[in-house]
Amino acid sequence: MGVGKLFKGVAMLAERVKTFTESVIRGMTRECLKYGGINLAQGFPDFDPPEEIKEAAVRAIRDGYNQYAITWGSPNLRQAIAEKVGTYNGIPADPEKNVVVTCGATEAMIASLLATVNPGEEVIVFEPFYENYGPDATLAGASPRYVSLRGPQLRFDPEEMEKAFTPRTRALILNTPHNPTGKVFSGEELEIIARLCCRHNVIAVTDEIYEHILYDGARHVSLATLEGMSERTITISGLSKTYSVTGWRLGYTIASPEITDGIRKVHDFLTVGAPAPLQEAAAVALRLPDSYYQGLQLDYARRRDLLYGALCEAGFQCTIPKGAYYILTNFEAFDAGDDTEFAMRLVRDVGVAAVPGSSFYHHADLGKGQIRFTFCKREETLQAAARRLLTLTRL
Ligand code: GLN
Repeated sequence: MGVGKLFKGVAMLAERVKTFTESVIRGMTRECLKYGGINLAQGFPDFDPPEEIKEAAVRAIRDGYNQYAITWGSPNLRQAIAEKVGTYNGIPADPEKNVVVTCGATEAMIASLLATVNPGEEVIVFEPFYENYGPDATLAGASPRYVSLRGPQLRFDPEEMEKAFTPRTRALILNTPHNPTGKVFSGEELEIIARLCCRHNVIAVTDEIYEHILYDGARHVSLATLEGMSERTITISGLSKTYSVTGWRLGYTIASPEITDGIRKVHDFLTVGAPAPLQEAAAVALRLPDSYYQGLQLDYARRRDLLYGALCEAGFQCTIPKGAYYILTNFEAFDAGDDTEFAMRLVRDVGVAAVPGSSFYHHADLGKGQIRFTFCKREETLQAAARRLLTLTRL
């Protein structure tokens, strides 16, 4: 008798997993594989990281870095992270007290919430959002509360924002540069957020994974550098996007010693640690010269312009992103049904995968007319996708 039969009819799942669905982004990758399409859905590059980073990973395996690293990160990598956040982000960090290396920014986010948020509390999230944050809050026993980003500039209304803070608010999640819109929060917006966090004694958890992917002179500012924020901010970033190593699963948190201790405990029991040899290679990556980051931005600017041009030409309405590597489009020019129907038709009939917009909103209706494309792909891939998208007929 199979296990399925044995337990048939018995409720097998905890209530908490019934409150959210599987990731739509990762589901679209599976759909894309099924139809052999071009994957502009999930944000992972279809090109390799720099040769020297790959070599460093191979070398680390050969040199014997094959057993657990220290739970919260190898000393070499924590040192490299502390140097990087000091110079690039302007956040002074002690590798012994302020740094935890995690399995991707994904683990960093959930470990941060599990370490700081109590069941019954609330977590503020900007909408549209990257789909992990709601389930992360739920898994911590908390409820997400949403603040809308609206209009072409994707601004939030400071009054609506103020109202989102309640006596139960424990944390706020800020993602800048922003997925899925490409918004880069301005200094003035960050000031408003910082003031509210201080006034309401709230912890800010930032997702800065796209911090190096910026366009048109946009500047990345870390919330932790604003007045009153260093003690109450958990700064999260990782290696995946900057060095094109999404499969290595390397991220980190920077926080006060007290918060760091809490995150280290959660991280220890979730995963024990991130892959040891890849941590050594990550330390090499973080020490690449400035020219690497300049090249990265130039390459991404070309990819952005290519996809943006193709989408506009095909008839999508979109705002050009200032950061990250996504374009959130409106597709009302097509006779398309809702976002999920359109995305399914696109992957099945046109051979291009994108992400249905509703997965970025808690009121699914708000995203019914939108789909998101990523441009972290080779120019040939984007050109091939562009040719396919141009076959779409408009209303
Ligand atoms: N951040 C990527 C995206 O939005 C996906 C990350 C992931 O799937 N873990 O597409």
